[in-house]
Amino acid sequence: MSTLEIIKYPNPLLKKKSKAVKRVDDRTKKLITDMTETMHEAPGVGLAAPQVGELLRIIVVDIGEGPLAIVNPKLKKRSGEQIFVEGCLSLPNLEAPVKRASKILVSGMDRNGKAFLLEAEALLATVIQHEMDHLDGKLFIDRADPGQIKHLSREETSKRDSTCSLEKSEECMM
Ligand SMILES: [Zn+2]
Repeated sequence: MSTLEIIKYPNPLLKKKSKAVKRVDDRTKKLITDMTETMHEAPGVGLAAPQVGELLRIIVVDIGEGPLAIVNPKLKKRSGEQIFVEGCLSLPNLEAPVKRASKILVSGMDRNGKAFLLEAEALLATVIQHEMDHLDGKLFIDRADPGQIKHLSREETSKRDSTCSLEKSEECMM
């Protein structure tokens, strides 16, 4: 396992659309392993492949229930609304409330290339939608009210990161 460098805004790769993975091969599996390690180390609750400079439709998520990887995620259904204050590993000094669907049905492939369907709600639904946005070059600040985007101080970011390394929560970056 190795950790990867997380690219930061305004790196132009963050605005690009990622390509579907044609086949889950050893290279894909290694990328998923390294992305998971990178997310845990960051610490964060989600990470999308373009955030490590790979324009591929792969996301990893771990909200404290164990790591989950979704290759070629597709939103099949969405309902309800919820607002979480989001932070992003590629914009580590910002946070803002973002409104998203509160319940989603996602299809995709797991790390072995096996197709699956996943129903998610609450924080998991928000993290998956945030990561899927990355695959289309969209950032949380694009969805936030500009007046509600908060710049965090050094103290605030280090407090957030130490809290998040102990326990995964909605405060963690994604
Ligand atoms: Zn993000």
